[in-house]
Amino acid sequence: MTTMTNDSSGDVRLSGISKTYGAFTAVHPLDLTVPQGSFFALLGASGCGKTTTLRMIAGLEEPSSGTVFLGDQEVTNLPPYKRPVNTVFQSYALFPHLDIFENVAFGLRRRGIKSVKKQVEDMLELVQLGEQARKKPHQLSGGQQQRVAVARALINHPKVLLLDEPLGALDLKLRRQMQLELKRIQTEVGITFIHVTHDQEEAMTMADTVAVMNAGRVEQLGSPADLYENPNTTFVANFLGTSNLIEAAVDSKSGDDIVLQAGGGKLVLPQARCSAPTATGGKVLVGIRPEKISLTHADDAGEIPEGRNRITGKIADSSFIGVSTQYVIDSAVCPEFEVYSQNIDRDARLTPGADVVLHWSPAHTFGLDAAQD
Ligand code: ATP
Repeated sequence: MTTMTNDSSGDVRLSGISKTYGAFTAVHPLDLTVPQGSFFALLGASGCGKTTTLRMIAGLEEPSSGTVFLGDQEVTNLPPYKRPVNTVFQSYALFPHLDIFENVAFGLRRRGIKSVKKQVEDMLELVQLGEQARKKPHQLSGGQQQRVAVARALINHPKVLLLDEPLGALDLKLRRQMQLELKRIQTEVGITFIHVTHDQEEAMTMADTVAVMNAGRVEQLGSPADLYENPNTTFVANFLGTSNLIEAAVDSKSGDDIVLQAGGGKLVLPQARCSAPTATGGKVLVGIRPEKISLTHADDAGEIPEGRNRITGKIADSSFIGVSTQYVIDSAVCPEFEVYSQNIDRDARLTPGADVVLHWSPAHTFGLDAAQD
């Protein structure tokens, strides 16, 4: 096993970093700290500025403003090869004429290190390619080639490994395996990984912290669970999974809760889960994830426990997918409400056309600013 030292001087700090191309701003001034030893993901749709941000950390792109620090060292003006970082790209860029051992050894040999055997073998062990050392890249699968690229990037013990859509060329099954594999490698070596991806599942599977980017800005930063449970913007609420959003008006306050009016009914929202202004009469978007909702046939509405948020609707569509059923509900407050229901004691009456009550705990409700774009 290869273990790298985990000193505390390796935080990556971006301070006011930005990038403009002529009149176009690809990255707006950005302040971001990536803690030493974390697995950090920059997540966003194509063109949101995540690769540009990564390239500014690598030194491959010159920032238009701001500074990049690695621990106490400012590296803003250092060329890439003088920064203690390395990058793995989607195209593995392995040397086709060299075998796997020599591909991994390359960085050591270039530094004039003669006895490379132990280090290369340890590194191949780390990425579980010890048996493949004498093969050429074309004799390996895509996932194996990607692991060679990771081993080659780690051999010189960078403080930070940057990964730019490294799994983008792999099929879905292999991508899922490699997500777990990269996470294991990161845990084992203990260095900072900064991973760029447009795939929310990938970011959430691997990263401790995710920065969701949109149009050159970080919209929200947090753990995967935090971003999913407590999105602060409609963009984050919709980019990470599915959210049902109901427009509601602030009615009153009750202890730590906000009481809202939506379509003639009342909904309760914990104040702590609301990122919108809550002046009485103001509009709030009330959000609820599809799997947090229970569905009860309207005839049994009297059995729903007190204290749950509830709205009424009619089943428009249902798809049985084994372990669960996905319903689309027509409701006056939300035209295509999605509900995912586990198929335990499934009520056979819940078919298209049935009148239903949707209900959920206020604790699973979040509130967004209805005025944001
Ligand atoms: P993708 O996932 O498609 O790579 P991204 O989020 O990584 O997207 P960037 O590559 O960072 O996006 O690009 C951000 C924006 O900056 C895009 O609109 C892109 O067209 C623009 N851009 C990037 N490089 C240049 C350049 N050299 N000249 C002009 N515009 C550029």
